[in-house]
Amino acid sequence: MSEPAPPTTEPSLDEIVALCKRRGFIFPSSEIYGGVGSTYDYGHYGVLLKNHVKAEWWRAMLAERDDIVALDSAIIQHPKVWEASGHLAGFTDPMVDCKTCKLRFRADQLEDSQCGRKPSKRPGEGPDCELTEAREFNLMFETSVGPVRDSASVAYLRPETAQGIFINFKNVLQFARKKPPFGIAQIGKSFRNEITTGNFIFRTREFEQMEMEFFVPPAEAERWHRHWMDERMRWYTELGIRPDHLRLREHDTDELSHYSSATSDIEYEFPMGFSELEGIANRGDFDLRQHAEHSGEKLEYFDQQSGERYVPYVIEPAAGVDRAVLAFLVDAYDTEEVEGRRRTVLRLHPQLAPVKVAVLPLVSKEGMPERAREVFDSLRRRIAAEYDEGGSIGKRYRRQDEIGTPWGVTVDGQTMADGTVTLRDRDSLEQVRVDAGELGELLAARLEEPWISPKAG
Ligand code: ATP
Repeated sequence: MSEPAPPTTEPSLDEIVALCKRRGFIFPSSEIYGGVGSTYDYGHYGVLLKNHVKAEWWRAMLAERDDIVALDSAIIQHPKVWEASGHLAGFTDPMVDCKTCKLRFRADQLEDSQCGRKPSKRPGEGPDCELTEAREFNLMFETSVGPVRDSASVAYLRPETAQGIFINFKNVLQFARKKPPFGIAQIGKSFRNEITTGNFIFRTREFEQMEMEFFVPPAEAERWHRHWMDERMRWYTELGIRPDHLRLREHDTDELSHYSSATSDIEYEFPMGFSELEGIANRGDFDLRQHAEHSGEKLEYFDQQSGERYVPYVIEPAAGVDRAVLAFLVDAYDTEEVEGRRRTVLRLHPQLAPVKVAVLPLVSKEGMPERAREVFDSLRRRIAAEYDEGGSIGKRYRRQDEIGTPWGVTVDGQTMADGTVTLRDRDSLEQVRVDAGELGELLAARLEEPWISPKAG
């Protein structure tokens, strides 16, 4: 293997946004109508990348252990769920309105905001600014259920997936025959009427979460909290995130949510600095007790062997799918000079790469496209493959590099003579000749190998 490319400078967010658009990963939403702030649509490669991130999370939660079960709960729940969870009363940000420019600002972020009339000034600094007192603004999206719109029909889009898990605790206990320590895992959309959005898909109003609630005997809570911090850090690094761009930060007591006795955030060094990727909280017995009180149901565990009855404590690793996708993209983005030309390449972990192998005929003649299609057909059922015969071979490779395809197979004149193809490695650019019939086996094996980013120092 030739030496991997030396690390280059870190990408800006603008470079990531441009690549995502150019290569069909992520588009600003409703663009033909002028766009709608901080809302994005995932295109073909974005969907594939996001699916792979979620599949790796499911793999870590379900396939690699036997103490977690899956759940997919509703987005619109009984309104009392949000009363019990504390979201109706407490899921708020302090906001001030400017009566002059009609804009609304987060009271705790005035220093970083711009006046609606004079963007060079902060809100309140201009001569015409008229700011109201700070008021609490609830971040939940309200909707109404049924044909009549009145106070009885008010419902909310869930601001987190976790509550759907707590209200199913009893079902899982009974029907999945689990006993603490055990977990319930869920991936799904959440909605928050965030006032300050931005940084591309880092903070949006509609996003996906991957949350797991792990129910444990209270005396074991601290140990399991540590366990999940280690496990989640390992998940990101095994999927190629450079360890020196990740850190675990413990919340100060004044930062803790109303339900949490201890929380640590996994932070990634995004272009805008270290920011939260995932929170790992010790929620104590807050949620089960609240729902028990509001619903009248007993939400506890009775251990028949010891005769002990208790409300389990909950350890929660809560991650954002979109933030994880952004972190993987930023960490993978690289540029380098190859034979006098600049190439952009996404050095994604092969398991995450939207496409694993591209099959390319060298030229569109002499039977090569037909032979390449045969190779493609033999591979596509085993491994995510793409066939491409349009444009020069160099251009086709550049396209595959930019979507992060780890392997390229070229069918050329020699293939027609001896059945071998060239296999090109995205990162080292090494090319070797391989028998076409052995490709499936070889690539499936490579896909399972441990992988370290060539960008890691
Ligand atoms: P932040 O402090 O960034 O607002 P949070 O602490 O409120 O996040 P949690 O409620 O702990 O976030 O949600 C768990 C995870 O869900 C976060 O770590 C993040 O990855 C993701 N997430 C939360 N809010 C958003 C959002 N508006 N857009 C995208 N992802 C989000």
